[in-house]
Formats: sequence, C-alpha cells, structure tokens
Amino acid sequence: MRWTVAPLLLALLPWSCTTRAEPADGGAAAAPAAAEDAAPEEPAAPARLFVHVFSAGFEHGVAKPGPDGADSLVEAQWRAWDAADDRFEAVISREPPASLDGFDGVFLYTTGELPWSDEQRAMLLDFVRGGGGLIGAHCATDTWYEWPEYGAMIGGYFAGHPWNEEVGVKVEVPDHPATRHLGVSFRIADEIYQHKEPWDRSRLTVLLSLDPATTDMDKDGIYRADHDVAISWLRHEGAGRVFYTGLGHRPEVWRDERFRRHLVEGALWAMGR
Ligand SMILES: [Zn+2]
Repeated sequence: MRWTVAPLLLALLPWSCTTRAEPADGGAAAAPAAAEDAAPEEPAAPARLFVHVFSAGFEHGVAKPGPDGADSLVEAQWRAWDAADDRFEAVISREPPASLDGFDGVFLYTTGELPWSDEQRAMLLDFVRGGGGLIGAHCATDTWYEWPEYGAMIGGYFAGHPWNEEVGVKVEVPDHPATRHLGVSFRIADEIYQHKEPWDRSRLTVLLSLDPATTDMDKDGIYRADHDVAISWLRHEGAGRVFYTGLGHRPEVWRDERFRRHLVEGALWAMGR
C-alpha cells in the first residue's frame, strides 16, 4: 500500500518534486523521457530558461542595457551563470517569445504593462499551467497590473518599498534548494518590496520573509499592519511551478553569491529539476 503514502508525503512537503506533467501535446518542452537504457551517470539535458528583461514601467539600473544594446547586468549575470553551470541554459531575449516549445521556464525581470499580444500572454499562461516554470525576481510583481491572471500566477502585486537598506531576513523554509545555503536568517542590503492582493499567504509557500525584530519597522509607507512581509515564495499553478524572489534591486545583490544560488536553485526547482 506504499502508493497511498505518497500523497500524504507530498502534502507535507509542498515544495517537493512531483513528477512534472507532460504537455498535452507531448511537445519538446517535456522533460527527457525516462532513459531506462541510458547509463546512470548520463547528465540530464540542461533545462532551457527564457530570460526576459524588459522595462515598460520603471527602469532599474540593473535592467538598463549597456552601450549599443549590450547586456544589462541582469542579462550578463544570467549569461555568466549559464556558462558556469551545466544544469541550465539561459536564452536571453528582449522580445516576447514566439514560442515556448522546448523551454522549461520563463524568467522575468520586468516592469509595467509588457507589450505582449493576447496570444503571447495566453501562451505563457498555458505554458505554466501545463507544467512549465515561471521565475520572477524583484519587479516581476511590478508588472502586468492590468492582467489579473498574471498577478494571481506570480502571487501578488508590488505595494511600495519602505526599505532600501540592510534588513533582517527570516528563512522560513531552510531545507529548500533555494534557501539551504542561507541558514535560518541572514542580513542583506536591498530594496524590499511589500505586496498587496492577490498576495495571500494561504495561496503560496513563503521561503523568506522580513524579520521585523531585526529591521527598522518605523519606516514611512509600511502597508501591512501585521508586518508580514514575504520576500520569496513558491506556488503551484496548474501543473507548473512558480518561484519568486523580491530581492534583486541593487547591483551588488546581482553579484552576491548568496543571491545567485537562491535564484538559480529556485529557477531549477520551478523547472522541475
Ligand atoms: Zn527596485
């Protein structure tokens, strides 16, 4: 009766690795078929991540293209991380995807109402609900306010950033791949977002949150009377997975090894790896 135990275990571990659903069309986005004949040491094909940095609203310094259209810092870091890590491949594009076939995840560092067509937005929704990963950093929640299904999918909308300084962060789930290098708490200097509806703790798994005991809670504009300020979370959307981290405003954060590991491992989790 071992099979009856599995759902219970999965319920206890909301971030655990359930088998990634195959797209209905069995398309190229599927994970490689179980290679029963392959040598066990054969590495899996790298996960393919569509990396989209686009500022339709506020343009962050880290998202600003270099001279002659060179990489922004966000793009440059994804390129460097890809080069140093066999587990994923970052495909960097400032254009919306023409197709998400063959991709395992979409990463957004974006603001405002992105100029994607209705078809492209429907494709993103179908991609995630069909088993793909959605990965957002920082301003990914300052995006697409006029598309409520996106807000529900990413987990909430930006509602001010009272802090831009060193803050204390609680690691609420210390055994997730995206957090296990962070201990039970840490300090970091960054701009910290609050989130509003549809953000709801009951709809997601909070990985990181602001520690009110070690953070200045007398700042102007603190929106949440309960001081429940989530910084990173996971969710499931249909058969897909969502990983969001609110960190990533300051350039030094993008160069911080703790952030690289947090984001890359979170992205790999969202891509079912
Ligand atoms: Zn910011």
